[in-house]
Amino acid sequence: MTNYYLLIDGQGVPGDRDMEVINPANETVFAHCPLASRRQLEQAVAAAKRAFAGWSRTALSERQANLRQTADAIHASAERITEVLIGEQGKPRAQAAAEVGFAEMFCRYFAEQTLDVEVREDSTEQCIEIHRRPLGVVAAIMPWNFPFLISVYKMAPALLAGNTLILKPAPTTPLTTLVLSEIVRDIFPAGVVNVITDNNDLGPHLTNHPDIAKVSFTGSTSTGKAIMKNAASSLKRLTLELGGNDAAIVLDDVDPRQVAAGIFGAAFLNSGQVCISLKRLYVHESVYDDLCSQLAGMAQCAVVGDGADPETQFGPVQNKAQYQKICRYMEDARNNGAIIAGGDIPDQPGYIVPLTVVRDIEDGAAVVDEEPFGPILPIIKYRDLDEVIERANNSPYGLGGSVWSSDMNRARQVAARIESGTVWINQHCAFGPNIPFPPAKQSGIGVEWGKEGLEEFTAMKVININKAFGASQH
Ligand code: NAD
Repeated sequence: MTNYYLLIDGQGVPGDRDMEVINPANETVFAHCPLASRRQLEQAVAAAKRAFAGWSRTALSERQANLRQTADAIHASAERITEVLIGEQGKPRAQAAAEVGFAEMFCRYFAEQTLDVEVREDSTEQCIEIHRRPLGVVAAIMPWNFPFLISVYKMAPALLAGNTLILKPAPTTPLTTLVLSEIVRDIFPAGVVNVITDNNDLGPHLTNHPDIAKVSFTGSTSTGKAIMKNAASSLKRLTLELGGNDAAIVLDDVDPRQVAAGIFGAAFLNSGQVCISLKRLYVHESVYDDLCSQLAGMAQCAVVGDGADPETQFGPVQNKAQYQKICRYMEDARNNGAIIAGGDIPDQPGYIVPLTVVRDIEDGAAVVDEEPFGPILPIIKYRDLDEVIERANNSPYGLGGSVWSSDMNRARQVAARIESGTVWINQHCAFGPNIPFPPAKQSGIGVEWGKEGLEEFTAMKVININKAFGASQH
């Protein structure tokens, strides 16, 4: 088995103990990974704090060059990262390779960004300049659905802005982040990037650490709330990208055959384990039956299994706790609706769940109101557009949403009324490094990606110059 190491102060170091990493397709032990101790967390934070003085003063061009080098190195190691990602996360090869490709793309995007001084006013009296300065040590805490991509898209803007970093992956998908640590070890000065792992126990020690200035977190809403509480003692800057229960509204003017593939892809990508998956599908009664059968047909043909098998199109649920949760949502779907595809979870090792489509189900069922985060799509029938917009908005979440229509004016009017950070029209789940990703309501705080996401890793600083003073001296 390959050996993996933590990255602390520029050195690859073993953990105090080891942890088993399980392949979710068959529940076998796929690798061992080091587990950081509390003492190692302290060493990592101290190293990042020491490194900040030098790194924050490097020229932006140097930081950009380091990130370009990182993107090149990700490209060169893409095959190895893809292989490890299939093993730890479970996703099929094409999706794993796409995740690595996206990570490279995000890294290249941030490598080309700048943090220019903005001159807000330059009059005879005064000059007002807005500068951006780094915050200090950033802790980035990741979930298990896109472990490599999320590590990279937090790391790149944090470093470009001049911060130093502690990365902490989720306990069930630590390996690709540890591979990333091997890649960056020889690119960045010691202490600029540190990677530690845990068994769900070190997070709170990072989020209340007095020497950490900011937490960039992606994960569940309940953990986000715990982090906010914990970070209050030192008033840390927070970016929280949390849970979602994205609604899609299909208007009565669509051709169900035309929209089915887009809806299917958005609901079942990564076996539904995407924060911006399409999770509740509201369909007008005039096209309901037709769209339900289109989607059921696609789900029945889908090959779900071990991501390492070249035939597999959709991988397993990533971990046991999530699998058990999905089994409960499956029961809820069976009790409250009609399952028209999937539904039968095989009795075998591994967390394989067939793509499941549920019709004749209403708001109020747990599988509709909550976030299953797995391959179950509830389809709800509606008659009145105003009423369905209200139902779609009647959620504590507000990450994304979508409208599907052949009439762009109508679609725009509905989009304007959906209470989420992103609303797509005739697509869902589309994202990219230049597109800001802002959550609404209890889906989070702050923004990731784009110029706005980069600025979240900085503090604004105003330089206010009295120009009249200079004039009076002459
Ligand atoms: P989780 O909240 O259980 O864990 C996420 C990370 O937080 C892990 O690294 C975990 O070890 C750490 N953690 C756990 N308790 C902590 C604490 N008290 N303090 C600090 N860190 C702690 O989430 P998960 O189950 O890994 O991920 C699934 C959830 O993530 C879903 O709700 C999904 O919607 C959400 N998600 C959101 C986005 C987004 O961008 N909004 C993206 C992906 C996933």
